[in-house]
Amino acid sequence: MVRRCIYCGKETDLSKSDIIPDALTNGKIINPNVCRIAHNNKFSDMFEDEVISKLAFITNELDIKSSKGNQYARYVANVIVDGTEYTTRMNADTDLFNKKIMRSADGKSLIGPMDKIKKMKGVEQDKITETDINQIEIEKRVSIDMGVFFCKEMHRLAAKIAFEWYCLNNNVISKLNSFESIIEFIITGEGVDPVHIIGNEDIYGLINQMSDLGSHSLLSYVAGDGSVNILVSLFGIAIYNVRVCDNIIQECPYNALFLTINLDAGRIGFKYTSKDTLEKELKNGFQKIGLFNGLQVMCPTNFNDSSMTCKMIYFLSGVYNSDLLFDTPLYNFYK
Ligand SMILES: [Zn+2]
Repeated sequence: MVRRCIYCGKETDLSKSDIIPDALTNGKIINPNVCRIAHNNKFSDMFEDEVISKLAFITNELDIKSSKGNQYARYVANVIVDGTEYTTRMNADTDLFNKKIMRSADGKSLIGPMDKIKKMKGVEQDKITETDINQIEIEKRVSIDMGVFFCKEMHRLAAKIAFEWYCLNNNVISKLNSFESIIEFIITGEGVDPVHIIGNEDIYGLINQMSDLGSHSLLSYVAGDGSVNILVSLFGIAIYNVRVCDNIIQECPYNALFLTINLDAGRIGFKYTSKDTLEKELKNGFQKIGLFNGLQVMCPTNFNDSSMTCKMIYFLSGVYNSDLLFDTPLYNFYK
């Protein structure tokens, strides 16, 4: 069967899409069935770049660099040196005094490497003073725009991540009509928004048990109404529920899926058709080792299977077949 773009069905010029944008993760997951120009490159301009730049402070703190040029995304910071406030766009802390000259908010002072300041036109040489940056107080203030977690660009990004990951796991290699609605939202921003941010603390607890803070996690489940949904957790900070389609379709048999990508690019995951097949696997994965105080003690047969804990938590969480997520308040306020 000929591979086609999962968004438009085009056969030519397919490319590898980073399911989670490269600048937001140290680990790659790729969907190879996305046409290069219309549905890979253009998503950067449409919504990805906006989200990446607004999340720059977080990716810097977590030491996540874009592999393109090995650069951190830049963010705006106010730096207060000895009581004078400077505004700068920066990426790593070392950037602060090493390379650049910063101008104060009132426009009256400059700070930077001595040799550069001396060469600047219009600087009165007798007003230059030397400062030992190890001896003075420096305060860095960064304002994080929390609105980024609620903006439409973020919803489109969450929908894109969920859709491409679900297609990858189910080996979808062409455009399917059942995904019409989510595709429309991703590529145009119009139509029914399939994404809502999770407000339920239990879900944050669930994801945090299955992954480390700073990781990205993806978890699919079938809800009580039969719809297929994916939880997209970004950094463990914000979790989105993405409704991928209204019911299980024949082309996509795998619906109990999990993946977490750690900051060190390590990953843990599993893939089952349903909760029932996961349950069978769990039963086979343990052996009875004896009775202690009247309790049957079970032990994993394979201690090297690090995904076992995640499988147990997923199974016990009750997320599969639940309406849990739809009972939560919906925070769909766009700016
Ligand atoms: Zn396409």
